[in-house]
Amino acid sequence: MPEAKVYFVELPNDSDERERLAALQKLLNESGLLRIFDKSDRVGIKLHVGERNNDTHVSPSLVKEVVGKLKERGCVPFLTETSTLYRGNRSNAIDHLIEAFSHGFTYENIGAPFIMADGLTGNTEIEVPIPGILYKSVNIAREITLAEGLVAINHPTGHVEAGLGACLKNLGMGLSSRIGKMRQHSSIKPYIDEDKCTFCKRCMKWCPVDTIIERNGKAFIIEERCIGCGECLAVCTFDAVKYNWGVQSEELQKRIAEHALGVITDKREKSLFLNFMTDMTKDCDCLGSRQKRIIPDAGILASRDPVAIDQATLDITREKFGKDLGRKSWPSLSPEKQLEHGERIGLGTRKYRLVKL
Ligand code: SF4
Ligand code: SF4
Repeated sequence: MPEAKVYFVELPNDSDERERLAALQKLLNESGLLRIFDKSDRVGIKLHVGERNNDTHVSPSLVKEVVGKLKERGCVPFLTETSTLYRGNRSNAIDHLIEAFSHGFTYENIGAPFIMADGLTGNTEIEVPIPGILYKSVNIAREITLAEGLVAINHPTGHVEAGLGACLKNLGMGLSSRIGKMRQHSSIKPYIDEDKCTFCKRCMKWCPVDTIIERNGKAFIIEERCIGCGECLAVCTFDAVKYNWGVQSEELQKRIAEHALGVITDKREKSLFLNFMTDMTKDCDCLGSRQKRIIPDAGILASRDPVAIDQATLDITREKFGKDLGRKSWPSLSPEKQLEHGERIGLGTRKYRLVKL
């Protein structure tokens, strides 16, 4: 794979909104990268609206700028996200949209509608064939596969399991369906916490293979027949369905990279990635609390290569601040594993040329 180009506009530490907006405009105008999109292209803008109380996610005014630039080209942009696997304030479309709107991601503010890519409960999906090493197909949120183009607005942070949560994480985990997320996170099937189960039977009704039975007045999963779809996890409102998050970091990172490949596989020519190296924190924007910035602001990156842009994020943060964002956050993890695997499966390249604007 030839060397990729990564465009970079630097920002001062503690950059304010006005400086960020100016940097983004410079990046989009001078890189010319938006030329990959044509008139009438429906372009999904994958963002992260932040869990409740999170205030370090990429702000609505910056997202609005991307929307405006796409509209200038005659494109039809929409904002998109998927439901989370964990039980927070974004685990279904209704809650997620309420959270998004309360964080300012409304049509009035941004100028583009919000369409949940994986439907009401996270199971609107398409199985996408990929030339992976772990998988021959991955489960991707359906609505993004129907769009002609994709802009992923990524906010690099540390990540408790992957070391780094940036472009690959936003694509692979952030645009897979619930089954896709389950396949990445879990090596085993869910189980029922008897103390929490009220035996409302909702999970039994929804289980597609009827593998949830009654035992001692509680729901019980017969593991051998379970296909790991996560339906029970989504419908239980008593937090009684549990599963193991304990996949090892390296394995998780490889799975993320393979799902990212599934997301962009049919729109490589019309995919653009933006990494906002601002307000970088130890944990990702899924944490439902205010977080301390772990390193100073560095700037904004743009590239058509998802591997190269994350490699540049690690390199720039290491060069500027002594340790890369991943190691600064979670020293025991090796965040480059996702990039090595991404390169191996043809998702992108770690070799890039940094073009400073
Ligand atoms: S949906 Fe939850 S509370 Fe209801 S039976 Fe299933 S596990 Fe128990
Ligand atoms: S994960 Fe799916 S198949 Fe397994 S018990 Fe839950 S609903 Fe049934």
